Amino acid sequence: MQNGMKICVIPGDGIGREIIAQALRVLDKVTEKFGTRFEIEEALMGGAAIDATGVPLPEETVKLALASDAVLLGAVGGPKWDTIDPAIRPERGLLGIRKALGLFANLRPASLFPELKQACYLRPDIVAKGIDLLVVRELTGGAYFGTPKGVEVRDGERVGFNNMIYAEHEIRRIAKVGFEAARKRRKKLCSVDKANVLDVSRLWREIVLEVAGDYPDVELSHMYVDNAAMQLVRDPSQFDVIVTENLFGDILSDEASVITGSIGMLPSASLGEKNPGLFEPIHGSAPDIAGQDKANPLATILSVAMLLRYSSDSMGAQADCIEQAVQKTLAQGFRTGDIREDGSRLVGCKAMGDAVLANM
Ligand code: NAD
Repeated sequence: MQNGMKICVIPGDGIGREIIAQALRVLDKVTEKFGTRFEIEEALMGGAAIDATGVPLPEETVKLALASDAVLLGAVGGPKWDTIDPAIRPERGLLGIRKALGLFANLRPASLFPELKQACYLRPDIVAKGIDLLVVRELTGGAYFGTPKGVEVRDGERVGFNNMIYAEHEIRRIAKVGFEAARKRRKKLCSVDKANVLDVSRLWREIVLEVAGDYPDVELSHMYVDNAAMQLVRDPSQFDVIVTENLFGDILSDEASVITGSIGMLPSASLGEKNPGLFEPIHGSAPDIAGQDKANPLATILSVAMLLRYSSDSMGAQADCIEQAVQKTLAQGFRTGDIREDGSRLVGCKAMGDAVLANM
């Protein structure tokens, strides 16, 4: 869509609809402030789709997503669908849409708002240096998908094996995402591998170095994964963007996000070669608080900021505006239950949305 963006919105289940409602109000505010036009179309996925159509990812949803510039997702799943046939569980919808959109890169920022530093698990002197990093994880290759794999009997005992395998083109395209993301941030990229032991990592490092030639403005470093896991807790302030393969990224992105303390604050993006990407909070559908106006909408609102930044080259100002409004809201003391502290102003999902809008 010219001079705007077509967004496929999937509220999903549990708190999905509540948090997405606040995200849509933020998009309306962006239109009011910047004149950016958004065409929003809603689609079904997860438990809501199973109830309405019998499958977690209807064909129509895939069609609509593919015809959009970006997809914004709330969350899917819940106890209601826990006992149904595993082949049509709500989470299957997620895997299906990632595949249909060819999403091979997962971007998870871990940033600690200074206002929430009490929630951080690290020592105050480490926190004081700030945490604002992005983990770019390869999503479709490596040990999770490599073949041959399996369990078989060898010499009278069972042996299990997987295969960490990467083709050059897979490394090149994820390295590019890492460099491009660094360009939109502080221009520092750390490639994490295990090149001292693994052949696949040696190829990884070679290709990353080749791609670096196209990004002379980005400062590249390399780190072994065991050291990276340590450095993330010793001094996370040294990182801007980390790019790494699937298994290492699975572990490092969880480590990076948990140190910031709150699951209700963290957005994510999954990207392919081209639009549409998929943008969603990292948390689930929180059935325990669904329908009670208790959910923290900030991870979803920050996912909207990522959506604008990574689906377009010209919406950085809109993304900045949203992120600054979230920071200001926290500075004013507004807190949902999950990030509540002494002396803060406890609000519900909608009132948190109100406060962000007022600060935009
Ligand atoms: P969860 O993230 O939904 O909830 C874990 C805890 O964090 C709960 O106590 C919940 O109340 C709290 N929480 C999560 N998001 C919050 C928010 N925005 N504000 C305030 N508190 C929040 O994880 P779970 O309980 O393991 O899973 C619940 C359901 O969500 C399951 O069906 C699971 O499969 C699904 N799930 C979906 C996704 C996704 O859609 N991407 C991701 C993870 C889990």
